[in-house]
Amino acid sequence: MIIVMHPNSTAAEIGAVIAMVQKAGATPHPIYGTERTVVAVVGETSRVKPEDFSRMPGVEKVTTISAPFKLASRESHPHDTIFRVGDYRIGGPEIIIMAGPCSVESRSQLLETAHAVKEAGAHILRGGAFKPRSSPYSFQGLGLKGLEILAEAREIYNMPIVTEVMSPEAVPMVAEYADILQIGARNMQNFGLLHAVGRIQRPVLLKRGMMSSMEELLMSAEYILAGGNYRVMLCERGIRTFEKYTRNTFDLNAVPILKQLSHLPLIADPSHATGRWDAVIPMARAAIAAGADGLIVEVHPRPDEALSDGPQSLKPERFVELVKQVKRIAEAMDRFVPEPVPWAPQAADPAAPETHTLSSRRRVQPKV
Ligand code: PEP
Ligand code: MN
Repeated sequence: MIIVMHPNSTAAEIGAVIAMVQKAGATPHPIYGTERTVVAVVGETSRVKPEDFSRMPGVEKVTTISAPFKLASRESHPHDTIFRVGDYRIGGPEIIIMAGPCSVESRSQLLETAHAVKEAGAHILRGGAFKPRSSPYSFQGLGLKGLEILAEAREIYNMPIVTEVMSPEAVPMVAEYADILQIGARNMQNFGLLHAVGRIQRPVLLKRGMMSSMEELLMSAEYILAGGNYRVMLCERGIRTFEKYTRNTFDLNAVPILKQLSHLPLIADPSHATGRWDAVIPMARAAIAAGADGLIVEVHPRPDEALSDGPQSLKPERFVELVKQVKRIAEAMDRFVPEPVPWAPQAADPAAPETHTLSSRRRVQPKV
């Protein structure tokens, strides 16, 4: 249920509605818009009677949300959700590009890649420190060391970082380093993990499970929103089909449909969606043309040597081409790729010894 307040309702009237929802045993989620406030009512709603609320001062109308995902639905929140990550806005007219290697393999590999993607125009640096691999014998990631390397790259290149968190126990540690917590396709329905990221105030990139429907993706987002963390990005990264020429099938349909069903920003991952570098640029273009708010792309200086996902990784020069083409598509869509914030080139010599202590690389004051 949604309680829509009058544009000129007072804080006291909104407070009274919230208190009444709590008294009825349900959970209120006030959504403060620029024009008006709405109070979404979720949880145990059997004792919530719409007529009790429609009579209250300051209430304009009471409606029900037909979608099973209440807080994630456009019905509850007609405007696009926009939030900041570092100096960038996500979900607005800007097209945000996240790029970097699949895995952090070494300090020099990550810094070299970060340098290349920053110079090409990427905004946010990606890199896995904890890797969900199909085989226990494959490279599992550098773990904490990988997070430290990412944090160093963030300082040098002035780029927020996105990295995967695989278990609820690891959330506090990864949140200490990352600007965006990635929930991977294999963990989209790890409900303990969804609860854990719902309880903290750090943006989340929630990837669609390879065998999950759009509705299941939105229900997983709902777990995070219901926990009180509203900064969630949905990510279409391809689903498993009978097709063998690509690793996954990029569900381009999901882009317009998820944007219709939900107010949450949508990021497309053409790397995992195709599994082959030669299809990444065309699918990146398609995603932006279809209405995606951003991209997450794998880039490696030497894809042949990559410890994970080499076949789908772009070489830096191809990533330069991707950014160029995406800029043109963005313009056709009345959107734009913002200029990346500057960095200090003299600070960056990947061959230089590590200059930061562990504690200085951790975020002292989390950018939330
Ligand atoms: C990744 O981003 O490297 C990754 C493992 O993605 P996904 O969870 O979509 O497979
Ligand atoms: Mn990968």
